[in-house]
Amino acid sequence: MSEVPGAGEAGEKGPGPLAEEVEGFVRGPGEDYAAEIERTRSVPPGLWKDLRERGYLRLAAPASLGGRGLPFPQYLELLELFSMSHASLRMIVHVCNGIWRAIARFATPEQEKAFVRPQISGDIRVAFALTEPTAGTGADIRSSVVREGDTYYLSGEKHLITFGAHCDYWLLFARLGGTPGKDGTVALMVDRHVPGAKVEAMADTMGVRGTDHAHMVFDRAPVPVANRLGDEGRGLDVAFDGFLTPSRIAVAMTCVGLARRAQELAVAHAKTRQTFGKPLAARQAIAFSLAENEADIEAARQLTLHAARRWEAGDERSATLSSMAKLNAVDMLTRVTDKALQVHGGIGYWEPHPIERVYRDARAQRFEEGTNEIQKAVIARDLFG
Ligand SMILES: Cc1cc2nc3c(=O)[nH]c(=O)nc-3n(C[C@H](O)[C@H](O)[C@H](O)COP(=O)(O)OP(=O)(O)OC[C@H]3O[C@@H](n4cnc5c(N)ncnc54)[C@H](O)[C@@H]3O)c2cc1C
Repeated sequence: MSEVPGAGEAGEKGPGPLAEEVEGFVRGPGEDYAAEIERTRSVPPGLWKDLRERGYLRLAAPASLGGRGLPFPQYLELLELFSMSHASLRMIVHVCNGIWRAIARFATPEQEKAFVRPQISGDIRVAFALTEPTAGTGADIRSSVVREGDTYYLSGEKHLITFGAHCDYWLLFARLGGTPGKDGTVALMVDRHVPGAKVEAMADTMGVRGTDHAHMVFDRAPVPVANRLGDEGRGLDVAFDGFLTPSRIAVAMTCVGLARRAQELAVAHAKTRQTFGKPLAARQAIAFSLAENEADIEAARQLTLHAARRWEAGDERSATLSSMAKLNAVDMLTRVTDKALQVHGGIGYWEPHPIERVYRDARAQRFEEGTNEIQKAVIARDLFG
């Protein structure tokens, strides 16, 4: 098994100039990409290439695996900046900088060579395939495998899978046929072009336009046993242990970044829009509303960074803190984007205005890495044992 540091093993010092570079990218070329994605409803291949060449897809992975080795809180400061951009851009950065954790933790040396390093370098794309249309997320999953010699035969269904249509592998979670609950689950690296798989793109989302999401149906699709990560029965450990806590913290920070963008747009609008002879910003009701936003954003940022530091320090409560950070940040994002749109007046509801997209994109974050109900369940478990 490979040793996976939490983050930031002897890598670059940052962010400093790197944060300035990222902010320049987000406010410059990032805006052009955002406009193109909204216009074409697809992510140009050039964006993936650009992000990869700039080294933005391997910021968080350790240097020993080919990453840039930024400490986690410093990576999060950059993720905040990326998240001010189009949701599809931040989705690429977030997924690529995080999914290696799930693969690397249980990878054998051969799997590290075949999957972990190529994912970090950007040579292969991996989609995380857990959610199913006919089962609850987690121990309820129904996709199943039957083992015959050195091969598993996979049957079942997955949906809502980000990058599911245009990836190279699915990191897919299933169970040994007939096993109940968490026991018997397996994590498999499944070749995107495996025979027996039917893949359909799920287009026309409310927000996060351009990102591909897939619905997949498997009928005895053959997967080599050698592509299983971890032991039989530990599939959900691959999905959750060591991966979910930092990933939830990262999603919390993406909320902070998008809220910051909404706030910037609202402040700029309040300064320029005049009603009854005065800019909106001169009205206390408007100024107070945006003051509340500012406090809300800062509080979410600090709880998120606190959770990140506790996770890096190996604090056993960091899983609970990550759920608190995520729950708090998505609720903050709902409040902030709602007020930011309100300050724009009716024109903010119209499509060419950036706040319209920000408002739509924000809604997706409440589903990522567990809904509010799931975060509350984690916090309540800590409370009541
Ligand atoms: C933009 C986007 C991208 C996504 N990308 C991926 C991806 O890459 N990979 C992937 O695997 N999934 C992905 N998902 C799916 C996402 O993880 C799920 O939508 C989320 O976990 C909720 O699961 P569900 O949709 O099956 O909702 P359901 O399980 O049907 O739940 C419906 C509602 O009921 C609540 N609920 C369900 N069970 C309980 C319970 N026991 N107690 C209390 N409340 C409950 C839920 O919180 C939710 O509010 C994505 C979703 C979106 C919107």
